Parts: sequence; C-alpha cells; structure tokens
Amino acid sequence: MQLLDGKKTAASIREELTLAVKNRKENGQKIPHLAAILVGNDGGSMTYVNAKVKACEEIGFESTLIRYDDTITEEELLRKINELNNDDAIDGFIVQLPLPKHINELKVTQAVDPTKDVDGFHPQNLGNMVLNLPGFLPATPAGIVELLKRNNIETSGKHCVVIGRSNIVGSPVSILLARNTNPGNCTVTLTHSRTKNLTEICQQADIIVAAIGKPGYVKAEMVKEGAVVVDVGTTRVDDPSRERGWRLCGDVDFENVAPKCSFITPVPGGVGPMTIASLMINTLRAVELKGL
Ligand code: NAP
Repeated sequence: MQLLDGKKTAASIREELTLAVKNRKENGQKIPHLAAILVGNDGGSMTYVNAKVKACEEIGFESTLIRYDDTITEEELLRKINELNNDDAIDGFIVQLPLPKHINELKVTQAVDPTKDVDGFHPQNLGNMVLNLPGFLPATPAGIVELLKRNNIETSGKHCVVIGRSNIVGSPVSILLARNTNPGNCTVTLTHSRTKNLTEICQQADIIVAAIGKPGYVKAEMVKEGAVVVDVGTTRVDDPSRERGWRLCGDVDFENVAPKCSFITPVPGGVGPMTIASLMINTLRAVELKGL
C-alpha cells in the first residue's frame, strides 16, 4: 500500500506557483489577488479559509479576507459580491460554504462573475466542465484528479465508484473522471443514499472516491484488493486525547481498508491540501486569462 500524499503533492504545486509569481513580478505583470468571504464563526469554515489565506501568503499571491456575522442579510452579501465582481484589483474570490440558512446558496453562487469564480461553482463553469470547454474546475474534484495524475495513477478503462452526489464533490468528480481526458476515461458509477447494494458495487471498483461525510463508512469488505481509495470526508469527531478536543475523520475506515489498497489518501493530508492547491491554480489562471 502506498499513501497518496496530498500534502506533499500540494507542496510541489505551491513551489511551481511561487515560481510563476516570481516570474510575473520580474515581468511587471499583475500579482494574483484572491478574496475570500467568510460568514459566521463556524470552526471548520474558519480553518479552511485561514488555510487558503496562508497558502496565498506562501506563494506570494495577494489576499483579502472579508468577514461578516451570520446575521448578514442575503441582500448585503449579494451587494458585496457585486462589488468584488467589479473590483479590478480582485482576480478571483470565493464565498466559503456553508452559509447560514436564511441565505440562498444557489443565488450566491450564481451571483459570482464566472470569470472570477475560482471555486468553479457557477453554473457556467460547471457547464463548461461537462462540455470539456475552458473554465474553472471545482476545486476539490480538480484536486482529486490532479492528485491521481501527479502520482501516475492510471484511470483509463478503470471502474470508478463515486460515493456521494453533491454539487461540489461527488457529481463533478464523476464527470471529470468520465471525460475523454487524462486522467479520465473511467467507467463511473455514481452512488448516493438511495443506492442499493453499495457494498457489491464498491467491490467491483478499481477506484473509489468517498464523499459522504460519514466517518469510517467505507469498510474493508467493500474494497477489492489493489483498489485506489480517495477519501474526501472531513468530519470533526470528539477526541478527548487531543488538546483541541476533536480530530478530523475521513469517510473510510483507514486502518482496515489501507492494507487492501494499492493507493489510499490519508485524512488529514490527502484531498484537503489538494483542494487548496486547485484554488490557487484557478486564481493564477484567472489573472492569466485576463491577459494581465
Ligand atoms: P453532502 O453535500 O452532504 O453530500 C453527501 C452525499 O453523500 C450525498 O449525495 C448523499 O446522498 C451521500 N450519502 C449520504 N449517506 C450515504 C450512504 N449511506 N450511502 C451512500 N451515499 C450516501 O457532502 P459534500 O459537501 O459532498 O461533502 C462530503 C464530505 O466531504 C464531507 O465530510 C465534507 O466535509 C468533505 N469535503 C471535504 C473537502 C476537502 O477539501 N477535503 C471538500 C469538500 C467536502 P443523497 O444525495 O442521496 O443525500
């Protein structure tokens, strides 16, 4: 079994991006500038946004963090999005999800200018992805594909079972892996909570992508010998042995599944760092596409 080390792969992407920023500086080109909107005080969201800002600093991107109380109205948030859409200094921005219940996430996603939508959530970017046209790929699915590519994992002709059909992970990763690209050309089975015989379906998988949000859900008996397992899940579970009182837990029962795998991602240190790396790649592309 080999670890699919997202931390290491993401670090090498950051090195490449650092070099790209250095070159841009030397050529008098614009330094990429990412803005992030964070609403409320959810611990997980704060950690993710801070990690994104830290990655910008490390690479040499400019970054702006915009914070609001969870009492912000949908109208106020949409106004800020419109402002960022029209701010030439900002090349790309994200609105960290989830948002408070009184704010319509779809409305927010659709309000972001597709040319600044570095999270790749806008319907226009999702449509471009389906048609294999240029656009921003959603960060987590793109990170998964990049992780497979940079670790020379063959996907062509393989049977990939994706567990979970969310708009931000399961559905787009199933599309990316089925496209006529490299990586891609998988035969994909997209499963969800209504899927019958999930164990039998998973047993046929050469590659499993688990994006459910249920700690340890994928058990050893669901995985065939030699499979590649990508664990997207990041759920905080209580852990009194840790100073902070919790730890991050993936959707895969790592201890028992890992010995059967050819490759498996750890949690943390697998898909998470690759998501951030993809966001950085998209931000650089945003400024490049503008020809600045
Ligand atoms: P989500 O929107 O809650 O979707 C979960 C999906 O799992 C749904 O499609 C659901 O099916 C399916 N599901 C639930 N129980 C199932 C079961 N017993 N069998 C089969 N499918 C089942 O979650 P998400 O946003 O995709 O996130 C999934 C996990 O990934 C979470 O832990 C999240 O924190 C993590 N995540 C990590 C990153 C990262 O960068 N590492 C990024 C994004 C998300 P239905 O559609 O039928 O309800």
